[in-house]
Amino acid sequence: MHGLMMDYELTIPTLVRRAEQLHAGKEIVSRRPDRSLHRTTYGEVIRRARSLAGALRALGVAPGDRVATFCWNHARHLEAYYGVPSMGAVLHTLNIRLHPDELTYVATHAGDKVALVDRVLWPQFERFRDRVGFAHVIVVGDGEPPIPGTLDYEALLEGADAHDFDTVTDERWAAAMCYTSGTTGRPKAAVYSHRSTVLHTLGMSLADLDLCRETDTVLAMVPMFHANAWGSPYSGLMTGARQVLPGPHLDSASLLELLAGERVTVALGVPTIWSGILQLLDRDPGAYDLSRLRVAGAGGAAMPEALFRALDRHGVHMVHLWGMTEMSPLGSHARLTARVHEADADVRHRYRATQGRPVPLVEIRARGEGGGLVPWDGATMGELEVRGPWVVGAYYDAPESADRFTADGWFRTGDIVTIEQDGWITICDRDKDVIKSGGEWISSVALENALMSHPAVAEAMVVGLPHPQWDERPLALVVRREGSAAAACTPDDLLAHLAPHFPKWWLPSAVEFVDALPRTSVGKLDKKLMRQRYSAYFLAPTTSASLADLAERTMTEPTSGRR
Ligand code: AMP
Repeated sequence: MHGLMMDYELTIPTLVRRAEQLHAGKEIVSRRPDRSLHRTTYGEVIRRARSLAGALRALGVAPGDRVATFCWNHARHLEAYYGVPSMGAVLHTLNIRLHPDELTYVATHAGDKVALVDRVLWPQFERFRDRVGFAHVIVVGDGEPPIPGTLDYEALLEGADAHDFDTVTDERWAAAMCYTSGTTGRPKAAVYSHRSTVLHTLGMSLADLDLCRETDTVLAMVPMFHANAWGSPYSGLMTGARQVLPGPHLDSASLLELLAGERVTVALGVPTIWSGILQLLDRDPGAYDLSRLRVAGAGGAAMPEALFRALDRHGVHMVHLWGMTEMSPLGSHARLTARVHEADADVRHRYRATQGRPVPLVEIRARGEGGGLVPWDGATMGELEVRGPWVVGAYYDAPESADRFTADGWFRTGDIVTIEQDGWITICDRDKDVIKSGGEWISSVALENALMSHPAVAEAMVVGLPHPQWDERPLALVVRREGSAAAACTPDDLLAHLAPHFPKWWLPSAVEFVDALPRTSVGKLDKKLMRQRYSAYFLAPTTSASLADLAERTMTEPTSGRR
């Protein structure tokens, strides 16, 4: 016997219609390039999204065609988020920080037909525009003079018929696509369907996660080209939460101004963004009123426990999220369960800093080196595998990546984890980052977290580097905090700080102090770059000349500590 319910397709236009009917008057605030604030509403954004869709149809865009965006976070970008999928086309958010060669590859591979480009990003776009076969380029600006050979967004919308958004007839149609940052090999695309997007949006809004309510004001400090700004444009649309979008101004001071000035209640960002915010709060405690902020979400990279504790002191209580572009992106969250709530403060802090438990509809398991599934004992490491309705089942046109999917339909995440009772996940490393020393695995994330708990440390990265005797050995790269106490900290101080918590062979073979650590295109710490820069570190002779040479090549300042 079958159920007797309606066949009701889960599509983005259903969310759009809901917003039009239920919360058209709710506000959307964007920071313009000139720093002024632009205020509009869901009603107005959707009205314009309908015009955008009508204009695209008039330009020959048909269901299934790809429409690229090359934009910061702002209300015009939201118009594309809502309008492009609702007409059946596929929104492809280009990562504005990629190299022109990579952008050429990604836009060509996706087959992008039209590009929507921020006027302020034109210099970057121009560097690859002619290498991609865009049929139309539309420039989104604020009344600047037109660019020859392009269409002006405002003029286009003015002359357009409103689209009725009735073309999406199948929830399995593609709605959007996003390329992974591609730390090895070519970037690969996750293609989200209407169904997966709607289910992910519902998942984001579950009470246990509590990432978006109608009463919230949500600030996406994560770019709209990084995994759909973690779903916040659609969870805002569904719930009617007020949205605040920072435009190009992602520096800590501008973000803090928005957090306080716009009375933000939910903010999402990678740990490097939060650590920048922490530094300003430490410098000037009390300067910003963050009392409204009830959810401060960190994800995209491991957030060290020390950062949780430090932000707690400013009344900013972080929640840890884990996800992947391939998972739309939400996979797990570290809200405390009833059992953990009853534990003492140290235990609660420890669990907050794990990657948490899988969200409903996401299943997890981990596979060890021998090929078997690992027990949920909190100790045995294995590669995390996942499945669920918003997890990719294949990459777009990438047969060479078929091995990322198991024969029984699970996605191999590439994250090395332990899982403990009740499903608490701890990420030990990305598979490429795990350090293999003398046949054993060392977790760089665990070492980084412990380094971050030293008062002199502002940021830490641990990389595994080729070693003549041990295959690989850990090198710790550390940015000191400001101030004379931190300046006096030595490599030996840091190693002594780590020693009680790890087996001796886990301890970094060297510590280097550097001025800054590089970021990836989505703002995470870039381990791949540092591994390349320091690749000969344990192979080259330890002379001061070689260190000077190394300093030159790395553009950082080693003040040594090699063992
Ligand atoms: P991306 O698709 O660029 O967001 O990268 C996804 C990867 O980021 C995951 O596979 C993890 O390796 C890493 N990641 C995401 N969230 C976390 C987290 N909370 N803790 C540790 N690593 C994370």
